[in-house]
Amino acid sequence: MKTLVMKFGGTSTGNVNALNRSADIVVAQYGEWDRMVVVVSAMEGVTDLLLDCAEQSLAEEKGHYLVIIDDLWNKLNAVVWPIFAGDQSYEQLMVLIDTRIQELTSICQRIQLQGKSSPRDMDEIAAIGERINVYIVSALLSNRGVRCQAIEATDLIVTDDCYQAASPIQNETDARVNAVLPPLFAKAIIPVITGFIGATPNGTTTTLGRGGSDYTAAILGKSLHANEVWIWTDVDGIMTADPGLTPGARLIPDISYSEVYELAYFGAKVLHPKTILAASEANLPLLVKNTFNPQCKGTKIGNCSQTNKFGVSAVTGIFNICLLTAQIMPGRDITKIKIQIVAALTKQGLSPLAVFWDTRERSICIAFSENISNLAIQAFEEDSSLRLPGITFSQPQVTEGMALITLVGREIFITPQILSIVSSTLEKAGVNINLLGNGTSPDSLVFSVANEDGEHAIKQIHDEVILHDPMVSPRTQPALKHVSAL
Ligand code: ADP
Ligand code: ASP
Ligand code: MG
Repeated sequence: MKTLVMKFGGTSTGNVNALNRSADIVVAQYGEWDRMVVVVSAMEGVTDLLLDCAEQSLAEEKGHYLVIIDDLWNKLNAVVWPIFAGDQSYEQLMVLIDTRIQELTSICQRIQLQGKSSPRDMDEIAAIGERINVYIVSALLSNRGVRCQAIEATDLIVTDDCYQAASPIQNETDARVNAVLPPLFAKAIIPVITGFIGATPNGTTTTLGRGGSDYTAAILGKSLHANEVWIWTDVDGIMTADPGLTPGARLIPDISYSEVYELAYFGAKVLHPKTILAASEANLPLLVKNTFNPQCKGTKIGNCSQTNKFGVSAVTGIFNICLLTAQIMPGRDITKIKIQIVAALTKQGLSPLAVFWDTRERSICIAFSENISNLAIQAFEEDSSLRLPGITFSQPQVTEGMALITLVGREIFITPQILSIVSSTLEKAGVNINLLGNGTSPDSLVFSVANEDGEHAIKQIHDEVILHDPMVSPRTQPALKHVSAL
């Protein structure tokens, strides 16, 4: 039985043109597969507006959140009206939107009254974007003659209660998915499912983390033993760098799970990193394609043995990082210390981005996003569970205003020529670098630079190393004409 899961992101549903393009793609695949599932995110910008609303309900300027709610309503109506005006689904959709907006207003009022919001409130609010868009997309598909049914993933994806970054409980999710969806498939109905959200076993809404709709597609693909998962977005596929930052970025036709994981984990927004873990566990081929250029083959992500050649594939960056460096006493087990630090910080909700160690200097370097760096530094100074034997934390060296630059490619961390090419390229460009190590596999090489040098470093590595590396170029191809998502 051939099963396809297709996910359409916010950029593929954020305006009338994008929605119509996405619907064309579903119509083109309709009937080509025994079972097909469509996953949809919130419209582009909607989750940001919702979270902004929650924040503003705590702001001093009372009632400002009502202005954002108005903006949200106008944004949704500006899409729904041109597509559905004169159609009976217009009224139905507007009733649904009004109901969700009333829910949002009452949660914000409660937050304002209590003077605080909980991660659980934030998830309830953030989920509203998907819980609206799924009905818009399914109404549009119905109008195009596609038999489909909107489903909220709170009925399918069972998660833990780690609000804002929940993890699925796979066996319970498998059971729900395989009870709810097959009766629809039997009637040739396409389930149109909310991305990003799930619910705890007792039914409280959770979210899988920002950008988590990609992850939803992989979770469902895994539960259904799908043949393929296709992620539709606004670029031709996985590129050698973020095309928004590096206009010369090229399409990578095929790449391994491991390389894409490193790329996504270290900043490339194109896929949520957990998507790749879920897909690789199930050996599920992932395809990333452009909704606005569907003829382009996109990027195929699979096992290294099928896809991978040596060389540097891509470069990415995360900005506004804080690095905390501490000395380690000789004779201590660095791996054990690393695990203890990550566990202790994660327990406090202060997940480090990465922990690197320098065996020569006997130091450990922990990278945090700058917005939690103060809390993390305080935790190191005050929390006794972090005063681990063997680490000198009395005077941790703290460096703010940094960027983490990551190169990915098969085994590049253990390919010495690459480090020397990268170092000399950046030295020539006047950028100071500090090598930190590899990410979660030898397929990445991570170093830090000052924030203000970050973009320049990425462009230099891209143009001087990736595009000029004879081992790399055959794997990449110039992007086809980039069609904007307007
Ligand atoms: P969606 O709404 O489809 O989920 P996102 O905005 O989350 O889309 O992800 C797509 C964006 O990811 C692209 O517009 C691009 O700017 C960004 N991106 C960052 N790094 C890369 C990369 N290496 N290859 C492709 N896109 C990238
Ligand atoms: N709408 C959610 C977000 O903006 C999930 C997603 O886009 O994948 O983070
Ligand atoms: Mg995304």
